[in-house]
Amino acid sequence: MKICVYCASSALIDQSFFKATEEMTIDLLNNGVDFVFGGGSTGLMGHLADTVLNHGGKIKGIMPNFMNDVEWGHKMVTDFEYVDTMHERKAKFLLNIDGLIALPGGSGTLEELLEAITLKRLGILNVPIVILNTNNYYDPLKLMLERCVSEKFMNEKHTEMWTFVNEPKEVWPAINNAKVWENYSINFARNEFHPK
Ligand code: AMP
Repeated sequence: MKICVYCASSALIDQSFFKATEEMTIDLLNNGVDFVFGGGSTGLMGHLADTVLNHGGKIKGIMPNFMNDVEWGHKMVTDFEYVDTMHERKAKFLLNIDGLIALPGGSGTLEELLEAITLKRLGILNVPIVILNTNNYYDPLKLMLERCVSEKFMNEKHTEMWTFVNEPKEVWPAINNAKVWENYSINFARNEFHPK
């Protein structure tokens, strides 16, 4: 199984975020998961890669050339793909993966996560999306998404696209128990609020 992880570049965050990242990563490694990530050396990205490599796992970084030019890439990761733009990178993240995980992060992580949710809503992406809500960091996003539904910007059914979990150990079961999304394609996205 190959899983893409979106996560923070910041190294200034609380240690508990690093601990949760490590716990989750070891659990996924024990279940035979290979990883794809942004290739960064700092913050949760760096810690994710360190943990995978220290346990003999596989991880691939996908990074735009301009980040590589300023040496943002993780030095120990050998499997790297360099692309021209951030958009190309985001598209590559989603190729041939079996699941997506968002760990806590800043605007980069939020952007990647919300794009993946949008693509899933349109039926372009079907994989499970699991959000690790360490320290309730993602509570405001959860509320925002619920608000999208309560105000009818999205349908109740769309909440099946993602799973919020609080503990690192819950991530692997959430990936495996995610609701199958294949049936809710572009037609559902278009018709739900525009009945003839
Ligand atoms: P952020 O959550 O704002 O720190 O952004 C992290 C996400 O954006 C990662 O999943 C990466 O894909 C991308 N990104 C942002 N900053 C970096 C960086 N310094 N090195 C590599 N990727 C980065």
